[in-house]
Amino acid sequence: MKKKAHKTHRQVSNGVYLNNRLVPKSKALISVFDHGFLYGDGVYETLRAYRGVVFKIDEHIERLFRSASMIGLKIPKTHDGIKKAIYKTMTANKQKDAYIRISISRGEGPLGLDPSLCPKPTLVIMSNPLKGYPKHYYQKGMKIAVVRTRRNFRNSLNPKIKSLNFLNNILAKIEAKNRGAFEAVMLNHKGYLAEGTISNIFFVKNGILHTPGIDVGILDGITRRIILKCAKELKIRTRQGKFRRENLFSAQEVFISNTTLEVLPVSHVDNRAISKPGRITKQLHSAYKEHVKDYIKGYVSHARTC
Ligand code: PLP
Repeated sequence: MKKKAHKTHRQVSNGVYLNNRLVPKSKALISVFDHGFLYGDGVYETLRAYRGVVFKIDEHIERLFRSASMIGLKIPKTHDGIKKAIYKTMTANKQKDAYIRISISRGEGPLGLDPSLCPKPTLVIMSNPLKGYPKHYYQKGMKIAVVRTRRNFRNSLNPKIKSLNFLNNILAKIEAKNRGAFEAVMLNHKGYLAEGTISNIFFVKNGILHTPGIDVGILDGITRRIILKCAKELKIRTRQGKFRRENLFSAQEVFISNTTLEVLPVSHVDNRAISKPGRITKQLHSAYKEHVKDYIKGYVSHARTC
């Protein structure tokens, strides 16, 4: 019988980065006194790697630092330290196309809300294989539902903070699921279109690309930024502002965006059919993919010259 290979930490495959080192998944455990578990006190980021290159890694890490600073949380590493830890995790897991999640919680401490009870934040980096989503998602489009759950009010819990406290989004997701929709779209407290539970929303009307403005109270998605840049390059007019649910019903094209889904066409809003994935949606998705390709090329040639 073959002897089981003894795994040192350096050889961890299928590992999770926990605080300062890689550990096997089965040993990636945190305390029940962690305030991330007790109170949802912490922040996170989701990133995507293509062919071994983590797309827009600096932008994601910058946003992680911004979220942390907005809740008064000190990240226990530098920007470069986080970057190295991400690549270390991916390399150990032998992943090139991956979905990466960084979570940082307030850490372990006695019961009580005061953040100073927790002297040391908990850092977790996970990476899982991700080749992409089923083709039919993009060929046919997916259903979304505008739900009753309103997006967190900016002055309560600012959606700009990518917070571990996700109940707002989960309640919206439950509604969407009950209505047979893939994603929920939330309105803000004043009834203006805000965003999805894990995505930003766009619609096309009369050739103009519309998306809710940041001041409606949404996360400034990194994919959203790139899509707006692509639109500019393609000379597609854009409008960011305050829109109503009805604007989606009369739109010629609707899509949602995030780091892992990229540009995902919407086929139905509240069971009302929108067109098949439209021309502008397709154009923007192709342009987005070109941005990814250029980024990978740039990263590889930079790595070669270093
Ligand atoms: N809005 C919310 C609430 C999200 O959770 C996400 C992604 O997780 C997005 C928008 C899209 O952000 P990004 O494009 O940076 O992935």
